[in-house]
Amino acid sequence: MKRIAVLTSGGDAPGMNAAIRAVVRTGVDKGWEVFGVRHGYAGLISGDLLPLSARDVSGVIQLGGTMLGSARSLEFKTEEGRRKAIRSLSERGVEAVVVIGGNGSQTGSQALCQMGFPVVGVASTIDNDLYGSETCIGVDTALNIALEAIDRLKVTASSHQRAFLIEVMGRNCGYLALMAAIAGGAEAVVIPEVDTDPEEIAVALRCGYERGKPHALVVVAEGAEYNAAGLARYFEEHKERLGFELRVSTLGHIQRGGAPGAFDRLLATRLAAAAVEELERGVSGVLMGLIRGEIVATLLADVVANKKALDLSLLELAQVLAK
Ligand code: ATP
Repeated sequence: MKRIAVLTSGGDAPGMNAAIRAVVRTGVDKGWEVFGVRHGYAGLISGDLLPLSARDVSGVIQLGGTMLGSARSLEFKTEEGRRKAIRSLSERGVEAVVVIGGNGSQTGSQALCQMGFPVVGVASTIDNDLYGSETCIGVDTALNIALEAIDRLKVTASSHQRAFLIEVMGRNCGYLALMAAIAGGAEAVVIPEVDTDPEEIAVALRCGYERGKPHALVVVAEGAEYNAAGLARYFEEHKERLGFELRVSTLGHIQRGGAPGAFDRLLATRLAAAAVEELERGVSGVLMGLIRGEIVATLLADVVANKKALDLSLLELAQVLAK
């Protein structure tokens, strides 16, 4: 192996820069040339590659976002798009790619592998919906950002005896919402994995009010059947029954942009360095993830064929603790 490329794809996640840095420096250490691909798969198709030296990745480990840019590319979903990408890589003599990204991105990795081009994936998405890694780059930081917001909202909610519907990101996965609800001491949580009757949430709020709680927080996953706006609309007609005055706060992209914490910097560094080691050993078609504290390579074919399950016993725990 002499030349490899690295790209970030899908939603940005805090720690992506630490992963890019680790790919570059581990590759350089082996005497390889490393190229950065700008704007994810779109840049792979257009040939937007730039050589990266160890110095080019100085001062990025503490930054959120991605220095290479990310994008969503519809063209890459077509075989013709991927053929163009392979042509761009071959013209530059690139022999393998490290793809840092989530579910969709790793589906793209597998599609590229199936066309004969070596790829190793690195598990990175704040949604934590990727099979093959118990947690992914960005999850811990995004969760801490959500928690900080929840803590603040709790303070203002208590001052005015209000209820807050707090919407957090996570696409169709309720992981972030559930963990934020437990760690933030929320009164209720709404996730896509479980059907929620808004009536039950109304009852939970009312019970809290009658038990003398000074506030009520409901953490709502953006992908739930009733998101925060939907629940607020439902409650509009039942205002007086809730007891609390209701407010809505959507955390949205605030959750993405933060500086990666120690956990995500270390996870990103370990996963990315391991991806380069796999390539050196001639292994491709795998995703590097964290399983029981170990860095583990899972076949991309298994990653795309399986859906990661959410541990629903944690939902019961959240409900018990909300008393
Ligand atoms: P996140 O969930 O954190 O936003 P992600 O990696 O799941 O990240 P997606 O938008 O789902 O983000 O996917 C990123 C890109 O991966 C898509 O824009 C597309 O270029 C590529 N991709 C997704 N699905 C496929 C597919 N079935 N075949 C080939 N490429 C795909």
